[in-house]
Amino acid sequence: LVGPDRLLLQCRHLALPPDSGTAVQPVPLKDPRLVAFSTSAAQLIGLDPCLCQAKNLTELFSGHSMPQGSQPLATVYAGHQFGSYTAELGDGRALLLGDLQASDGQQWELQLKGSGKTPYSRHGDGRAALRSVIREYLASEAMAALGIPTTRALCIIGSDTQIYRESIELAATMVRLSPSHIRFGHFEYFYYSRQSETVKQLADIVIRQHYPHCLATAHPYLAFFTAVVESTARLVAQWQAIGFCHGVMNTDNMSIAGVTLDYGPFAFLNDYQPGFVCNLSDERGRYAFNQQPSIALWNCVCLAQTLSGLVEKSELEAALSRFEPVYAVKYTELMCAKLGMAGSQAGDAALIEQYLALLEQCNVDYSLSFNLLGQALTESTEPFFSLFNRSSEMQCWFDQLLNRIDSDAVSIMKQSNPRIVLRSYLIQQVIDAAEQGDYRKLGELHSVLQRPYQKNDFGIYSEPTPLWGKNLSISCSS
Ligand code: AMP
Ligand code: MG
Ligand code: MG
Repeated sequence: LVGPDRLLLQCRHLALPPDSGTAVQPVPLKDPRLVAFSTSAAQLIGLDPCLCQAKNLTELFSGHSMPQGSQPLATVYAGHQFGSYTAELGDGRALLLGDLQASDGQQWELQLKGSGKTPYSRHGDGRAALRSVIREYLASEAMAALGIPTTRALCIIGSDTQIYRESIELAATMVRLSPSHIRFGHFEYFYYSRQSETVKQLADIVIRQHYPHCLATAHPYLAFFTAVVESTARLVAQWQAIGFCHGVMNTDNMSIAGVTLDYGPFAFLNDYQPGFVCNLSDERGRYAFNQQPSIALWNCVCLAQTLSGLVEKSELEAALSRFEPVYAVKYTELMCAKLGMAGSQAGDAALIEQYLALLEQCNVDYSLSFNLLGQALTESTEPFFSLFNRSSEMQCWFDQLLNRIDSDAVSIMKQSNPRIVLRSYLIQQVIDAAEQGDYRKLGELHSVLQRPYQKNDFGIYSEPTPLWGKNLSISCSS
């Protein structure tokens, strides 16, 4: 483990096709200060948290200097946004700094978000609001602690640099870590600008760097695409089981590495409403909670299109047909575990559906319901039953569950149901304090999110959302 001043980056991104981006230097923030630092993310990349003084983190990641070896690059991508193709997207406010290989062999790229204008900024200022990086930071670290594949957040650097959104706000940077920052939209950019040779080069690089096992198969491009479809299906199954709503599943926000990417107006469910839309800008509910699996598949179809010069159509279709079964198996497995069952049997899908229907009809908080169900098996059934105003139906369902589960149910449930989820109103309280220069609540919330499955008294953190906090909508503006 080393200190940030000894962090040495490689630049695998220099191997990307020449037209993949533009070398850009970050624009320094005014009066930078350390707002948040994730020790678990630091350890992933071989940084010693004890050597991470605020001063050197602040310098390295506010645009004033750079980690050794960095050669910052803004990459260009395109994407389907709300269903329509947009040719000109890209890293409008982020720079790829470089990458490194951790001691466990995992490759991590470092990206600096909010670092100033790039050729892909269009009308944007290249900055990120403190509010929005706090949301991304907490979400990445919460998802990681829940065991859901995600980009990570190393630190947030705040500043006195003012930016203009709906009102004047403060700018910040955040260091994002990801096995890859390549999006479906990178493939779309080269495909729709008719650079078929470059699509192939990009696929070759991504396969070599992230899917090397595909090289040993008879058809590496097909194996690669199948792997992306399957990991995307498993990822979205994890979102659905935990109650995570991404909010902007445009193809430019879909990771080729199958990790959760781009936390904008995301939300964790409060009351179980399958049609819940967390993004104020999503008027038609394209990205509603219950649409996420089919949208993920739709996005995989967009990726398939870009590979049509490398893989036969019938083979792409066969790979796409893997999505639904892989999704269903993973989702059922996760939901069965949430209800205390080891493995799944015929009839379990119906039991899950009945439970969700009761949650919906009775406006019950999704995450809390599983915690109180666990309590109903060990301590008292009263708090659980009081959630439902359909007690005879609930009793009937509960009796079926008791018949189905074994003595290990309670421990399975504890490992599968977080005691705390990142509710939007909790984030809002943290942001309100941070905007006044008080980062203590941010540190506290980050810390309780680290151990979501621990039996602990989380106090207000494990309680359902109060009424005032239930309808906080977040727009895309960030
Ligand atoms: P997002 O909504 O975060 O997925 O971003 C969509 C596109 O807008 C991406 O190409 C971003 O780089 C770009 N973008 C978002 N905010 C800004 C900003 N403040 N300045 C420049 N580009 C931005
Ligand atoms: Mg995006
Ligand atoms: Mg975003």
